[in-house]
Amino acid sequence: MKIICVGRNYANHIEELQNERPDSPVVFIKPDTTIGQKNHPFYRPHFSNDVHHEIEVVVKINRIGKHIQPKFAHKYYQEIGLGIDFTARDLQAQLKAKGLPWEKAKSFDGATVLGEWFDKSTFSDLQNISFELQKNGQTVQQGTTAHMLWPIDELIAHVSEYFTLKIGDLLFTGTPAGVGPVAENDRLEGFIDGRSALTVSVK
Ligand code: ZN
Repeated sequence: MKIICVGRNYANHIEELQNERPDSPVVFIKPDTTIGQKNHPFYRPHFSNDVHHEIEVVVKINRIGKHIQPKFAHKYYQEIGLGIDFTARDLQAQLKAKGLPWEKAKSFDGATVLGEWFDKSTFSDLQNISFELQKNGQTVQQGTTAHMLWPIDELIAHVSEYFTLKIGDLLFTGTPAGVGPVAENDRLEGFIDGRSALTVSVK
C-alpha cells in the first residue's frame, strides 16, 4: 500500500509556513515503512532537531480506481480517521530551498502515526469534520474539513489522475495551522468530531 499526502490544503497553514498558494494540490507519496507500530511511541530521528507534528484527516481507500470523477469519489472510501504526518522541518526547509524532493524529511521510518478508524456514516457532515491535536493536554492544531482548499472528493479525483488507487491506500488530506515541534515525553492526542482518535507519546 501507499500513502498519498496532500500539502498546502489549508490556507492558514500555507500562511504560517509562508508558502505559495498552489494552483493544484501539492502531492507526495510515503511508503508503508513510514507507518509506526500501533501503540508504540514516536522516536524522533537522529538527523533532525526540529520535528513537527502535522495532524490530518485520513481517508482509507476501499476500492481500486483510476480517473475517478468527483461525483463518484465517495464510493471509494468508507472509513475516516486521523493521522500525524511527522515532518523533519529543518531538513525539509533545506530540501525545499534547493528544490529537492521532501521524502527524507517526511517519509522516514515511523514518521506516520495512525489512529482509530470511524465509519463515514458516523459523521454528521463530511464537508465539516472538526478535528484537533492536543499536546500535553493543550490544543495546538485545530481545523475543519470545511476549510480545505480541495475537499476530500476532489482530492481523490485529482490524485487518481496520476496514481491508481488500491484497496488499503491512505489519503492524508493536509494539515491546518498550528504545526510545531515535539520534544521528548510529549503526549499527543487527536480528536475528530469530539472523539478521541489517536494518541502517541514522543521519545
Ligand atoms: Zn502533511
